[in-house]
Amino acid sequence: MPEPVLLNTTTRRQTLKTVCRSATAAGLLGFAGWLAVKNKAAADAPVWQIDPNKCIGCGQCAYRCVSNVSAVKAFHNFKMCGYCDLCTGFFEPQPLARNTGAENQLCPVGAIARRDVENPYFEYIIDENLCVGCGKCVDGCFSLGNGSLFLQIHQQLCKHCNQCAIALYCPAKAIVQIPAKQSYLFKEA
Ligand code: SF4
Ligand code: SF4
Ligand code: SF4
Repeated sequence: MPEPVLLNTTTRRQTLKTVCRSATAAGLLGFAGWLAVKNKAAADAPVWQIDPNKCIGCGQCAYRCVSNVSAVKAFHNFKMCGYCDLCTGFFEPQPLARNTGAENQLCPVGAIARRDVENPYFEYIIDENLCVGCGKCVDGCFSLGNGSLFLQIHQQLCKHCNQCAIALYCPAKAIVQIPAKQSYLFKEA
């Protein structure tokens, strides 16, 4: 009767290592494939966005959002901005003075910083941590002309509700769904 061919210990270990490596590689490839599919699905998933060209800054965004503090924030397109000294998005109508005194500011929570750029130009920067999405600055900026300030749903703050509570009340039907990979909708000149 012929003797069985036995693998020596070293050969068996090498075989086992090779099998393990192949299994790991196959597993990683499978995981990478799964991740790619998942990432594509996430990129294609719809997210809520405000069409800034339709929004009329009615103020509903500040209190219709299901979040304690609205996920809607003011954004600024600096390419459009005129860097006005008398910014109607920053100042109350007929301000007492053109300075950063709280009594002169339109924003109810002081979320807009006015900074001197070069006489007579100023830039206006939104602090999204303070902004409550009331749209007063948007409305004010729009009243002067180009409307470089606009409202948008901040994707990292949005709870991505199946039905956006603001969209139900938006009088301008300005809240739309677009693929996540496409956000944000920006205000253009
Ligand atoms: S006026 Fe309203 S929308 Fe504009 S920055 Fe202040 S809180 Fe935000
Ligand atoms: S989807 Fe929900 S969390 Fe996001 S803006 Fe609308 S109501 Fe707010
Ligand atoms: S509810 Fe609609 S129109 Fe009113 S501020 Fe929000 S997006 Fe603009």
